[in-house]
Amino acid sequence: MYDAIVVGARCAGSPTAMLLARKGYKVLLVDKSSFPSDIMSTHYIQPPGVARLEIWGLLERLKATNCPAIDEIDFRLEGASFAPPPPAEGEPPRPPGYCPRRTVLDKLLVDAAVEAGAELRENVSVKELIIDGGEVTGIRGSQKGGPSVEEKARIVVGADGMHSTVARAVQAEEYNTKPSLSFAYYAYWSGFPDQSCEIHFRADGGVLSFPTNDALQCVAVGGPTEGFHEFREDIEGNYMKVIEGIPSLAEKIRNAQREERFIGTNDQPNFFRKPYGNGWALVGDAGYHRDFATGLGIADAFRDCEYLVDAIDEAFAGKRSIDKAMAEYETKRNEIAEPLYDLTTQLVSGDPPTPEQFIAFGLAMQKMMPESAPSGEGANA
Ligand SMILES: Cc1cc2nc3c(=O)[nH]c(=O)nc-3n(C[C@H](O)[C@H](O)[C@H](O)COP(=O)(O)OP(=O)(O)OC[C@H]3O[C@@H](n4cnc5c(N)ncnc54)[C@H](O)[C@@H]3O)c2cc1C
Repeated sequence: MYDAIVVGARCAGSPTAMLLARKGYKVLLVDKSSFPSDIMSTHYIQPPGVARLEIWGLLERLKATNCPAIDEIDFRLEGASFAPPPPAEGEPPRPPGYCPRRTVLDKLLVDAAVEAGAELRENVSVKELIIDGGEVTGIRGSQKGGPSVEEKARIVVGADGMHSTVARAVQAEEYNTKPSLSFAYYAYWSGFPDQSCEIHFRADGGVLSFPTNDALQCVAVGGPTEGFHEFREDIEGNYMKVIEGIPSLAEKIRNAQREERFIGTNDQPNFFRKPYGNGWALVGDAGYHRDFATGLGIADAFRDCEYLVDAIDEAFAGKRSIDKAMAEYETKRNEIAEPLYDLTTQLVSGDPPTPEQFIAFGLAMQKMMPESAPSGEGANA
């Protein structure tokens, strides 16, 4: 019997398991993948996410992986330069962003969970939940190429991504839903002349270019979802055509070498799910999903697992009823996420992006910064 079983061991599941284990709980962390392994993502960690890595004592490990810090972003709206305003007086300094490969970040997170005392089982696919009298009490699944698995816990946390098996099993209610609005394709390039970062937002789509591990550059092209099928007819040709529209980036990519295949999707639903119920909780994309365009998913997951672990701890320690603690988790999540969600979905709605939207976005993101500000060098870089 575990205190918690966490299903999914990436940026929502591993920190949830780590923080629970650090509080002394007995945690089982399962994933159908093994680590290190990749997942579809352009993986830019927004500053509030970096601040949390620092508070958790993991930022130095990330820095040691040869992932460059992103102190400056060349940001263009409809081709015009845009500089987000600096933090207001009294606000904590913004740490730099980082864009680590998911093979690197997720392995670092899963290792930290194990180090904290969580038991990790890789290659375990959860098929269903054990439900007794309306209460979730465990999981059933199978080990790849091995026996079936059945385990019990006081709470089962679904950190298993937007198509969450846990959410489906408990029929978690969805609200504030919006359909997929955009698509994206990205690839990794070597031989860029610098490690600069640029973001171009336009009504007809966007381009992101981020430096990542091993001196590679992750370059993504996106557009409204209506254009997805036409784009797929000639992915490389259409990708390069969009980049040719940005002469500074086109110049860099012309002499670069593509190192991996193009990866893309238009599966970008926008929704909130009720993130708790009798014996279960959801965190990360399983509980809340927004279009990838504003690069929020990782920082959102880090924030929400802190809120969730506080709620579980308060309930298990008898300080509050589980319903009250979990209701506060949902309220805190939504208060911070909703303005960013609205802006994200507006930005990919096909209307020209405005500087005011980005200023509002920056202000809303400042609220995502952890309450206890990080103290180390990363915060002031
Ligand atoms: C194209 C694209 C670009 C993106 N770019 C960015 C970006 O630049 N910055 C950013 O912050 N976010 C970005 N995101 C979003 C980000 O990748 C996600 O928000 C983030 O990965 C969510 O983390 P998670 O841990 O909740 O879920 P996931 O990363 O999806 O992890 C879920 C885990 O659960 C496991 N799992 C699923 N089902 C089961 C099961 N039944 N049994 C056992 N294990 C299971 C999976 O194997 C997986 O390891 C992007 C997304 C896309 C699609």
